[in-house]
Amino acid sequence: MQLVAVSKTQPASAVQAALAAGQRRFGENRVQEAAGKFPPLRASWPDLRLHLIGGLQTNKAREAVRLADVIESLDRPRLADALADAAEREGRMPDLLVQVNLGDEPQKSGVARADADRFIDACQARFGSRLRGLMGVPPQAADPAPYFAWLAERARAHGLEILSMGMSGDFAAAIAAGATHVRIGSALFGSRPRA
Ligand SMILES: *Cc1c(COP(=O)(O)O)cnc(C)c1O
Repeated sequence: MQLVAVSKTQPASAVQAALAAGQRRFGENRVQEAAGKFPPLRASWPDLRLHLIGGLQTNKAREAVRLADVIESLDRPRLADALADAAEREGRMPDLLVQVNLGDEPQKSGVARADADRFIDACQARFGSRLRGLMGVPPQAADPAPYFAWLAERARAHGLEILSMGMSGDFAAAIAAGATHVRIGSALFGSRPRA
């Protein structure tokens, strides 16, 4: 079980305190914010791992590829194109997770559930073992368990090892359903101003 400490909106000093306490894996949802906070920390903490967990615009793909160790929000063919192009230019490719919109909610990122299998197949064909797993966020008001179970089943069906699911409010249910990575922000750092 890996803890991704979601440090969005937190100052670099909060990340430093977590690093000093032994935490190495962090999540940010905005490329610009991550670009400001993390590169200076890598010099002192070379085993730091940065996950990008927010909806990603194609025009940020190159910077995302430069910065991230894991991009958790691959959710559409145009972004796959942009990431492939960026990887070629940058000479590196982060690990990739396909994000599924578990509740098919219009305001959330992620490939629709009905399109997930086809998109995952296409990403596996294109990115090979760089496509490491799946990420999803269940709808807020619902019992998350069936959504987590659904995502775990899709990961199993595609032979993918990483299952990133569970946040401060629902990580116990996510772990029970087989999460390999939980993304925890407010329960670690305290509440944050609305991002
Ligand atoms: C902000 C965020 C989290 C962390 O949320 P908390 O409820 O503060 O734990 C996890 N995943 C994603 C995609 C997020 O945007």
